[in-house]
Amino acid sequence: MLSGIQPTADSFHFGNYLGALRQWVALQEDHEAFYCVVDLHAITVEYDPKALRERTRRSAAQLLAAGIDPERSTLFVQSQVPEHAQLAWVMSCITGMGEASRMTQFKDKTAKGGADRATVGLFTYPILQAADILVYQADRVPVGEDQRQHVELTRDLAQRFNHRFGKTFRVPEAYIVKETAKIFDLQDPSSKMSKSGSSPAGIIDLLDEPKASAKKIRSAVTDSGRDVIFDEENKPGVANLLTIYSALTGRKISELEDEYAGRGYGDFKKDLADVVVEFVTPFREKTLTYLDDKAQLDAILAAGAERARAVTEPTLAKVYDRLGFVPGP
Ligand code: ATP
Ligand code: MG
Repeated sequence: MLSGIQPTADSFHFGNYLGALRQWVALQEDHEAFYCVVDLHAITVEYDPKALRERTRRSAAQLLAAGIDPERSTLFVQSQVPEHAQLAWVMSCITGMGEASRMTQFKDKTAKGGADRATVGLFTYPILQAADILVYQADRVPVGEDQRQHVELTRDLAQRFNHRFGKTFRVPEAYIVKETAKIFDLQDPSSKMSKSGSSPAGIIDLLDEPKASAKKIRSAVTDSGRDVIFDEENKPGVANLLTIYSALTGRKISELEDEYAGRGYGDFKKDLADVVVEFVTPFREKTLTYLDDKAQLDAILAAGAERARAVTEPTLAKVYDRLGFVPGP
């Protein structure tokens, strides 16, 4: 199993946690798991090098705080494992231009600035992502709904390579938990909560001051009614809050609807704010503790990269052989 997360912000948010990270933690129990902070993906958009280094470490610290066990799972930084980029080149040579042009994330991410101002790296990002997955021979890829199309592309590329050059890759499947596959922006419940796309008021960051998180929940957009009902079409704001509430407490949505029947949004939001504060307070403390010892953190990541390379080097060697390259030194 393989999955990755971008160091594109100072903090992960509840979409990342509920859509992906929570599954990462659960699946490491009975899978051989590879989890990476995908810094090569983060440079596809404008960024500051100093901030990237800091955010990469913060990302790793948050993964540890979330419960990724570096003994059990291989936790590493993508740029420290060169085979990702090497295989991405190979994959780009079997990807059609039309096929790459159909990726909706590129369209979403360039909707504001226009495709002409985007980088080629942002365009080819899904190909690098395919390489991230295939280089580990992963069967399962735990992600949020927004990544389904990229995993589909990965499957197509794996099958195409196998067909053309002989069986080389396992064909992976996305692992998406329906209930929490898409957490929405608190201020704009028609778009997904996103590190790079949401306004600060629309995101609940895992590392926000607990008080700030509570305030964001209380000022989340709902509607002019007062019924706490799960109706994604007509009440997307309330439905989103119910999803988060249910996921964090393990309580059924129907049970929550009953509990808040006739009580209005005020009580509901206040209680959810308490639930969120209870979650983020220890999470934040743990993350900051991991960040206190950068040498230790870097050592965990270096050990992870070494373990990762034990898998990626043989995969790449096999691929190069299949491609007809002359063996090197
Ligand atoms: P960016 O805006 O920089 O793309 P992001 O918030 O989309 O950041 P990623 O690092 O791209 O986060 O994605 C990490 C994981 O979190 C992926 O598996 C992705 O599907 C999942 N994810 C991201 N946003 C959400 C969301 N709103 N709901 C559920 N899952 C999400
Ligand atoms: Mg994203």
